[in-house]
This record gives sequence, C-alpha cells and structure tokens, in this order.
Amino acid sequence: MNDFIIRIVYDNHCYKPGFLTGFGFSALIFNNIIKSYFLFDTGGNGDVLIHNIKKFGINIEEIKNVVISHNHHDHTGGLQKIYELNPIIKIHVPKTYVKSFVNFFPKANIHGISEFTEIAKNMYSSGELGINFKEQCLYLQLNSGEIIILVGCAHPGLERYIIKGREIGAIKAVIGGFHGFNKFSFLKGIDFIGACHCSAHVDTIAMNFPKQFKRICVGSVFSF
Ligand SMILES: [Zn+2]
Ligand SMILES: [Zn+2]
Repeated sequence: MNDFIIRIVYDNHCYKPGFLTGFGFSALIFNNIIKSYFLFDTGGNGDVLIHNIKKFGINIEEIKNVVISHNHHDHTGGLQKIYELNPIIKIHVPKTYVKSFVNFFPKANIHGISEFTEIAKNMYSSGELGINFKEQCLYLQLNSGEIIILVGCAHPGLERYIIKGREIGAIKAVIGGFHGFNKFSFLKGIDFIGACHCSAHVDTIAMNFPKQFKRICVGSVFSF
C-alpha cells in the first residue's frame, strides 16, 4: 500500500492533456494512512486550480486542509475559490502571515506555525524558516521512515529544508520550486528530484542527476 499519493494540480511548465497551466505551484496530497486530502499551496488562479482538481475527479469539499508555504500570490492566489466552496477549511500558514489570512478567510480555521510541528499523522511542517522572509515546507513521512519534501519556492534556501528533514529521516524525494538553489551536493542520495515551478537550474539538475530528476507536470501522479 502506498502511504501518500501526490497529484500535481498547478505548475507553470508542463501539463498533460486536459489540464491547465498558470504561474504558481500546487500539489494535492492524499494521506492514505488517515484517508484524507491536503492541498499544498494553491497556485495563482483559482479557476485553473479548481479545473485541475476536478479533472482528477476529486471534489473540492473532500479537501479539509490547506498548507500554505508562504504568502506569495503564485502560492495563495487559488485559495479564495477553495474557501468559497469550503469556508470551514483548516489553513496551516507560517505564523508571520496569520493576521492577513484571518482577514481574508474569516470563517476558516487558521493554524499559525512557528516551530517544527506535526500537522497530521506522518505530516510535519518545517516551521517558518528564513530571516527576512518566512516560509515553511511540508515533510511527509512514509511508514518506512523516509521523507518526501514538498516545497513552495524555497526562499530560505532548499538546503535548510533538507538539513532539517534529515533530522527526522532519510530524504527520498523533493518536489516543488527550488528557486536559485545551486548547492547541488545537498541532493546526493535523494532518489526523486522534482525541481519545477521557480527552479532556476532545472537543466543543470537534470544533467547532474539524470536518474533522479523527474519532470513535474500538471496532471502527474506520484505514489510513495
Ligand atoms: Zn515565492
Ligand atoms: Zn513561487
């Protein structure tokens, strides 16, 4: 049995037939251990996001939790449409952004996160990292103990999320926006490298890690 199923529902590069693209990133995670959906980030446009989720045959009402990596529009822009369909949703955000989320989504259950925190069974936030700009990543822990990292833009530096993740388990996969990350030695030993969205060095990563690099497309499904 797979512990987690990750469906890519938003990215600005490739997309499979029938899916839509736009600037931003979002992944829909099914935690098969507790049989529950978690949306990680929401892309920049709610119509695109909802189209892609529905294309997978999933009802928005089934999504009870959203994890927001950071307060940039290409990660939060789709949230309004999700909220309209499901206003009592729980939104896990870095503590720094709680006030603005309470203002925009008054009926939602806003969970502000500062430190490393368990969000649900086998799912953890890194806590808010970064000095001038705060962001969190999401760790999914497989029953084997290995870790899948989901990352929004990695503004604090992807290596910081990798280092912190290694405190709880070996890193099996990293998926999301790597931004300007170029300290490639930190990727050694990781089986699945899904650099997408804002990653500046996708081609170099693909060249250096030809077996580990995975092309992330809207419409892709990855099971772990
Ligand atoms: Zn960003
Ligand atoms: Zn971004």
